[in-house]
Amino acid sequence: MDARLEAIRDTVLARNPGEAEFHQAVVEVFESLGPVHDRHPELLEAAILERLCEPERQIIFRVPWTDDAGRVQINRGFRVEFNSALGPYKGGLRFHPSVYLGIVKFLGFEQIFKNALTGMPIGGGKGGSDFDPRGRSDAEVMRFCQSFMTELYRHIGEYTDVPAGDIGVGGREIGYLFGQYKRITNRYESGVLTGKGISWGGSLVRPEATGFGTVIFTQEMLNSRGTSFDGQRVVVSGSGNVAINAIAKAQSLGATVVACSDSSGYVVDEAGIDVGLLREVKEVERGRLKDYAERRAGVSYVNVGSVWNVDATVALPCATQNELDGGAAARLVRNGLLAVGEGANMPSTRDAVAVFQDAGVLFGPGKAANAGGVATSALEMQQNASRDSWSFEHTEERLTEIMVGIHDRCAATADEYGEPGNYVLGANIGGFVKVADAMLAQGLI
Ligand code: GLU
Repeated sequence: MDARLEAIRDTVLARNPGEAEFHQAVVEVFESLGPVHDRHPELLEAAILERLCEPERQIIFRVPWTDDAGRVQINRGFRVEFNSALGPYKGGLRFHPSVYLGIVKFLGFEQIFKNALTGMPIGGGKGGSDFDPRGRSDAEVMRFCQSFMTELYRHIGEYTDVPAGDIGVGGREIGYLFGQYKRITNRYESGVLTGKGISWGGSLVRPEATGFGTVIFTQEMLNSRGTSFDGQRVVVSGSGNVAINAIAKAQSLGATVVACSDSSGYVVDEAGIDVGLLREVKEVERGRLKDYAERRAGVSYVNVGSVWNVDATVALPCATQNELDGGAAARLVRNGLLAVGEGANMPSTRDAVAVFQDAGVLFGPGKAANAGGVATSALEMQQNASRDSWSFEHTEERLTEIMVGIHDRCAATADEYGEPGNYVLGANIGGFVKVADAMLAQGLI
C-alpha cells in the first residue's frame, strides 16, 4: 500500500478499535487508491479519505419490546449515516444476532462506493439490529419493527435517509416498518423506505434485483473472455432472497446450479436446483434446506464442511461476509473455476480474493456485482417521486442497463489504471472518484 495511505489507514484503525469487518473493508479499498492520489494530490490536502472513513452521523438506540410470553426483550438498534455527497443516505437494515457497530460500519462504507457505481443519486448508509427473527412469530416481528421505527423515524425521510432490507429484513419487515412510520408522522411518504410491497409503492423487480444483477454482472465478465453462463456448472452459497434469484437467473441463461446452502448445511442437486420448490420451502414455509432435500429425489443434504467443497466453474457467494476463505478459494481454483460474482457483501476474505486474482479468475467484488438491489431501490424512489409504477419489462431493462454500465465502468477504470481485468481496482477507484469529486465541490463539511 502507498505510504501516505498507510498512515491514514493506521489512524482509522486505531480510532475504531474492535471493528474487524470495518477495518477489512477500509483496508481493501485503500489498497486500490494509491494511483488516484498520485494523479490527484488535492485529495490528500482536502483529507478526503479521513473524512470518508468517519461517518457523518451514527445513531445507536435501545429497542424494547415484549415477546409472545409477555417477557420484556431489549435489543440494540443502529443507523450509520455514512456519506451524503451524492444523495440521501441509502442502504439496508440487517436484523441478525451478529450485528454490532463494526458490521454496520463495514456495510455502510461499502455502500458508499456501491451506490456511487450505480450512477444513481444516492449516498451511503446502513443500519440494523442484533434482533434474531429466526423462530419469532409474525406478531413478535411486528412489535419489534414498531419499536425499532419508533426511534428510527426521526432520523429518516425521503430526502434524508432511505432504508431498505438486508439479511433478516424482507417484505414483511418493511411493511411493519412503513406502517409505523406512516402512523407516527401522519404522512404517506412512499420514498422513505424501499423494498415495499407492490400494491403500496414497491417496484417490480426489486425482490429479484440483487440476485439477477449479480448474474448479469458475472455474465458480462464471462463475455469479456468470450464465454457465457450457458453450460456452466454453478455453485451458489446461501438460500435467501439473493441466492434464490441468482439461481433462477443463472439457470435461465443455460447454467446448471448444482448446490446451495443455509447456515446448517448444503444441498447437492446435480440435475439443477428446482427453483419452484426452493421458493416454496424458503419463502412460503420459511423452512430449511433439509426440507428441500427431503422432498426431491436424487438430492443429497450435507451438514458438515462447506458448500465450497462442491466443484464449479462459476461461484456465486450469496450468503454473508467472510464465508469463502483462502483454502476454499484455492480448492475451487484447482478444480477449474473461471469466475466469481459476489452477491453478498464482502463474502470473500482478503486471502480468497488474492488467490482468485493470482490465478487469473474473473472476480466481481460485491460493491459492483451486487449493486443491482440498491440500484433498483433507486428506481423505486424514482417511481415514488413521480407517483408512477413501471412494468416488469421496463424495470428489468433499466436494471440490465445499470449492471452492464457498472461492469463497463469498472473494466474501463481498470484499463485506465494499467490493470486490465482487475474489477476490484476498477470498482474501488470508480466509486471513489465520483464521491471524492462531489465532496471536493461541496467544501469542508
Ligand atoms: N442491502 C442491500 C445492499 O446491500 C440493498 C440496500 C438498498 O436497497 O437500499 O445493497
